[in-house]
Amino acid sequence: MKQTTYKQVKATTYDEFGRGQVIVNKKTYGVSGMIPGEVGDISILGDYAKVLTIETKSKARVTPPCKVYDRCGSCQLQHIHYQEQLKFKTQYVIDCFANYDIAIKPKPIIGMNEPFQYRNKNQFGYGYDKSGNIITGLYEENTHKLVPVKDCLIQDQLTNELFGSVQELMTKMRIQPFQEDKRIGIVRYVLVKRAFQTNQTLVTVVTGVENFPGKKEFFNAILKKHPEITTLVQNINNRKTSVVLGDSEKVFFGKGFIEDILCGLKFRISSKSFYQINSIQTEKLYGLVKQYANLTGEETVIDTYSGIGTIGLILAQNAKQVYSVELNKDAHYDAISNAKINNIKNIQFFNQDATQFMIGLSREKVKVDVVIMDPTRTGSTIEFINALRQLKPNRIIYVSCEPATQARDVKDIVNTGYRLVEIVPVDMFPQTYHVETITLLSLKTA
Ligand code: SAH
Repeated sequence: MKQTTYKQVKATTYDEFGRGQVIVNKKTYGVSGMIPGEVGDISILGDYAKVLTIETKSKARVTPPCKVYDRCGSCQLQHIHYQEQLKFKTQYVIDCFANYDIAIKPKPIIGMNEPFQYRNKNQFGYGYDKSGNIITGLYEENTHKLVPVKDCLIQDQLTNELFGSVQELMTKMRIQPFQEDKRIGIVRYVLVKRAFQTNQTLVTVVTGVENFPGKKEFFNAILKKHPEITTLVQNINNRKTSVVLGDSEKVFFGKGFIEDILCGLKFRISSKSFYQINSIQTEKLYGLVKQYANLTGEETVIDTYSGIGTIGLILAQNAKQVYSVELNKDAHYDAISNAKINNIKNIQFFNQDATQFMIGLSREKVKVDVVIMDPTRTGSTIEFINALRQLKPNRIIYVSCEPATQARDVKDIVNTGYRLVEIVPVDMFPQTYHVETITLLSLKTA
């Protein structure tokens, strides 16, 4: 393939990944690091376009504070002023809905006052640099190349220190990183979860093998260096996969989970269960869920894709009863403990596929008032939505981290007799192109 340079190319709009979109020879390319309005030289190789120089700079351009921003694939928008990032995200949401012929005017996006150091969870990989030194960091975009990261600006200082300490101890104690291609070595990843409200810290060391010489000494050395660690878990992942965690886990120290406080309730978080990664924004998001649910104490609420039960438990305090459904076993058990810890009794948990659960409810003709949906990026299913047609809840609150699939599902929900009342984008993931949205739909009364 030939690499060709094109001079003085103008980026016109953003693409879905927050890249500047250019048109060259009638073909559209997304150019990372270019902002709409900017003119510069780019090179194109196959489908891949890269910026070489920028001559006309956008007013929205800022110097990315991160030292490895150009190489690391985790943030994509650090070169764009935060207010402009929020504008891009709002427009993306509008465009997603327009693709399904739904014209929306979202409420103003809820941004962060301090759009850094927000992540309460991160995982760093371990490997070697060219000289054979052990390194830790994040991966280059769309590759499995590890970029050494010392100071990741979207996570807190302790998390940065923990990743660095494990790297130092591995070097000192001769614990090898796992090499996926050769399937030798020990440490694949370290996962850190922090509960900012309670200051508890879970460290999970993901290893390619269960037993290795010096394991106990290594884990003890990590604990000694960081007394802040509340619990240390070993997760064993020997599969050929880019999925971080394996199935098997051993608690080395502490309870194997941490507890955080969100909207006044306590939540148990283990290494495998889902927990929103931005606690500050999650409280704002859940505040909207509460407002939209508008509960009086008489309602039956269904919380689907419920994770560790957060939304259902928060709503249970003002509902008659809540049914909560989640597919992941660990999250399901965490949810049950969370109900116990908070002494909430009017909630029942089901460890099941959300669609199957909804079909079951519709067969039994259960009376349902409010349905919460919070699926993963792939969205929900048409069968789920058909079950809603039978159940006819008054209100549906749909939280999503992928507006493209949400728009598709909302279109189907609207077609089953609902009105799209309101949509609010929430910036859960500053500096990245991802955006969360929450929509309220209400049953059209004939
Ligand atoms: N509402 C929760 C979790 C949202 S993340 C919160 O706010 O924290 C989405 C959740 O959907 C994950 O916990 C995932 O395990 C779960 N999930 C994925 N596919 C599912 C399915 N088919 N049925 C039920 N739950 C599913």
